[in-house]
This record gives sequence, C-alpha cells and structure tokens, in this order.
Amino acid sequence: MSMPTYKVCCDKCDYEAWSLKLWGAKEYIDSEGQRIPVDVTLNWCNECQSLEPVESFDHTEEYVKKLKEALNNIKDNTNSVPKLFYIRLMSWFRGADQCFLNEALEYTRKIELDFKRKGTEKCLTCGADDVHIYSGNKGIDWQLKFENDNDNTITNIQHPNCGGEFYISTDVIRVAMSSDMRTFTINGEELINS
Ligand SMILES: [Zn+2]
Ligand SMILES: [Zn+2]
Repeated sequence: MSMPTYKVCCDKCDYEAWSLKLWGAKEYIDSEGQRIPVDVTLNWCNECQSLEPVESFDHTEEYVKKLKEALNNIKDNTNSVPKLFYIRLMSWFRGADQCFLNEALEYTRKIELDFKRKGTEKCLTCGADDVHIYSGNKGIDWQLKFENDNDNTITNIQHPNCGGEFYISTDVIRVAMSSDMRTFTINGEELINS
C-alpha cells in the first residue's frame, strides 16, 4: 500500500525532511500489558539536529470527547438506569457494551498518560527528551491537510540555530508503507524484541 508523504523545508537553508518519518504503528505497553496507541508529530530534536517523530500528548480534549461518546453508548444500551448497568456489569455484557467498555478504558488510559507525560515528550528516533515542542495548530501532523493545494503551507516553526522558518512544500510523493510495529514503555523507552 502506498501513501502520500509531504516535504518540510526551511526557507533559509537547504534542510528538508519527509513526513514518512512519522509512519509506522507505535504503541505503549503499560505495566499491566495494556496497549495504548502513541501519538506523534514532527518536532525538532536537538540530539538528532533534525525534525523527528516526537511523542505528543496534546489530544486530551479529543480523547475526553471520545470517552464521553463511548460511555453514552453504554448508557443508551442499558435504558439509562444506572442500577441496571451495574447488574449487567456483574453478570454479562452484550457484545456492543463490551466493545464500548474496552474503548472507554483505552481512552481513559490515553487521557491518564497525557496528564502524566505532558512536558516530558521524547524523540522516538534517539530517545532524548531534548526536543522543541510545537504544540496545538503549530504541530506538524502526518495527516496534515493542505490549506491550499497550490501554495506552500507556512508552519510558524523556526529552524533552530538557523533562523529560517519551516514550510510544507506542495511536493507530495507516494511511498510504500512499512508494516513495522514499534513498542514503548509508558515513559517512551523503546521495548526491543517485543
Ligand atoms: Zn534552516
Ligand atoms: Zn532525536
């Protein structure tokens, strides 16, 4: 399967990086063996001296919304009677409830991790936490939507030690996607041979 990848360039020097650096499935595995998806954005790593995939804990609001949706789905399935819900919880679940409950638990773990780890983001290439975090709408997401197909997109992200500014070029190439899975502890340290 091939996917579009875009290029981030500096407007002052010839530095460039491709968004395919963000690709590949990544998961945290917590102390109970539960898997939690890893969010990444391209950010500047001082150790690598380049834009690298860096952990992101900036999607809390989105996960809270998803958690509410999952809980509402469970509530709807149980006729809005909390007591009934607990009785059902003790006895059996319909498949759908089990699925929403698993979703709710995953979002809960994700929100917990966002609060715990925000401010301690690590570079997922070298493992260092010496990174510049460009959060919110300044972050470079791999699913980036172009504002205008014909124009370079300004990022407002400075190239450290250069003074230039990164922009996203309209050049897009399609590259075969790898199916590698990398796993990390909840502190962002890579688990080898797992
Ligand atoms: Zn530069
Ligand atoms: Zn790095």
